[in-house]
Amino acid sequence: MKFNDISTTKIRQVQLVDRVGSEKNFLGTLHVTTSHLIFKADETNKEIWIAYGLIQTIEKLGATASGFRLSIKCKHFHAITLLVPKEKECQELYETLQACTKLLNINDCFAFSRRTTINSKKPDGTEEWSRLDWDREFQRQGVGEIWKKSDFNHAYNRCDTYPEDLWFPEKASTAMLLGSSKFRSRSRLPALTYYNRSNKAALVRCAQPLTGFSARCEEDEILMNLIYEANGSGKPLFLVDTRPRVNAMVNKVQGKGFEDVRNYTNMQFHFFDIENIHVMRSSQNKLVDACSKALPVSEYLKIIDSSGWLKHLRCLLECAKFIADALSQGISCVVHCSDGWDRTSQTVSLSQILLDPFYRTIRGFETLIDKDWLGFGFKFDDRCGHVTSINEDLSKEVSPIFTQFLDAVYQLMRQKPLDFEFNERFLLEINEHAYACVYGTFLGNCDKDRKDLRVNSRTQSLWNHFENHLDDYRNPFYTEGAVHLHDVNIRPYAFTVWTGLYNRFDNGIQPRENIDDAAITMKEHIQVLEKAIDNLMKGESLNVSVNPRWQPLLGADECTGKTCGREFASLFDRRNHCHGCGNIFCKRCITTTEDSQMKLCESCMKTAMHSV
Ligand SMILES: [Zn+2]
Ligand SMILES: [Zn+2]
Repeated sequence: MKFNDISTTKIRQVQLVDRVGSEKNFLGTLHVTTSHLIFKADETNKEIWIAYGLIQTIEKLGATASGFRLSIKCKHFHAITLLVPKEKECQELYETLQACTKLLNINDCFAFSRRTTINSKKPDGTEEWSRLDWDREFQRQGVGEIWKKSDFNHAYNRCDTYPEDLWFPEKASTAMLLGSSKFRSRSRLPALTYYNRSNKAALVRCAQPLTGFSARCEEDEILMNLIYEANGSGKPLFLVDTRPRVNAMVNKVQGKGFEDVRNYTNMQFHFFDIENIHVMRSSQNKLVDACSKALPVSEYLKIIDSSGWLKHLRCLLECAKFIADALSQGISCVVHCSDGWDRTSQTVSLSQILLDPFYRTIRGFETLIDKDWLGFGFKFDDRCGHVTSINEDLSKEVSPIFTQFLDAVYQLMRQKPLDFEFNERFLLEINEHAYACVYGTFLGNCDKDRKDLRVNSRTQSLWNHFENHLDDYRNPFYTEGAVHLHDVNIRPYAFTVWTGLYNRFDNGIQPRENIDDAAITMKEHIQVLEKAIDNLMKGESLNVSVNPRWQPLLGADECTGKTCGREFASLFDRRNHCHGCGNIFCKRCITTTEDSQMKLCESCMKTAMHSV
């Protein structure tokens, strides 16, 4: 169903049931719009907006004395239960929501019909959609003469899940590349993704070889040797298979498997115990279960333990640290899993975050996602379930691999709070938008898909949204310090459940004040006051009177906009201070002045306009 086919409907007298059941329900009106489901409470300013792309399941829970229950669970772990007074209304709502959230073709998702535009211009005036320019990025890494850009995959002819431009050792011939690509699962042959400038060590990624029990490929063996030779250190090349050895053995039966080191010179083989997408999916289901119920502590801890989620996170970082340490010692690494898009994307990007401070900046992190996730063909459509599964095989493709990567980054941020330019909100919103289909950034299964969909001309980029609200995503404590985070701790106690993600919408679980926002707000406040003093000293009048006292963040649960008053959904909703009156507003009620100097509420903006 297309969104423009649905007219806006309202259902009154709907109750929003308290999740834990300890507080009374909210009575309100439900609005079913073309893009969102909105609940507005009658007596308070509570408002809940849910983009249809985020809805995972809708379930009828049956009748109670006060109405018919409908449960809605979202992919970003927001879960609500509604009580609809009449059975007929409940059934209609259920059917409408089923239709709204069902997406059979990615072309019908909200990103393509959305009208707002965000502009982000490059210095030459052209629109910038992606953060990645392959040439510029490899230049930044310091890739020199030994690695060369190749048109081997021109028009995606050799491998449709890879980028068009690939970098190989300069001496690699086309025949060699062709041989190797035929020997690798889905033609995903070894290609460069990171170059460690200081010692020429290279990070190369690929898919498993089609060895079966005895097959070998001379071209592949020579290519690997060229990768080994490229850094000139004489240290053996590390072949990192991220899978447990048993899984890799099972693949041999299907004619796939792993390299036989006897056929490769100067290579050392290493297995890691990172489980497959199915194990990760059921692991996260258990974790979410534990986080969403009111359980006794012992029961909660038991489920967290049996989910294995923290163990899986540790495995990921263990492997990433191994790769980063090897590269920093001048040892080149070739990394693969089965098809080289899930575990490989996770581990190579985490190791680059450990190695290169650029990837710990906002722009660098976006570039990394553009390169190792979007560029090298992580299947966002399939893994995030963008399109409704029409059969069981498709639903088995859904797995929280990307969320798990962000969780691992969060664990690193906890350990290294000064080394990341971005904050927790940045990770949470990336995760939300990987599922929501409001921006075009994460649509499609590979680079070619996004070209075919023409996302860069038909949709908005999430990165440009961030660019326009950078203050909301900055870590105020960031200091450009360490280069390589070699001392990152992977002992069991270093891992914890990410409550900001799994309990984002639960009151009382998050601290009462967001520490990042508190620091950023104080800095902003000082700047505003200093500027006002400056102007007064120069004898210039202020366009708007500046209140030296700002409303405290603590206890600021709703917007002070007279016609708005919207309640903030969670601690991660940014509270914006008006630079004039000093009150707190939601993002809809605050405007930045044309000269980008001040953020003002509607009434202060009017005063400012009059005084000009
Ligand atoms: Zn104001
Ligand atoms: Zn507001």
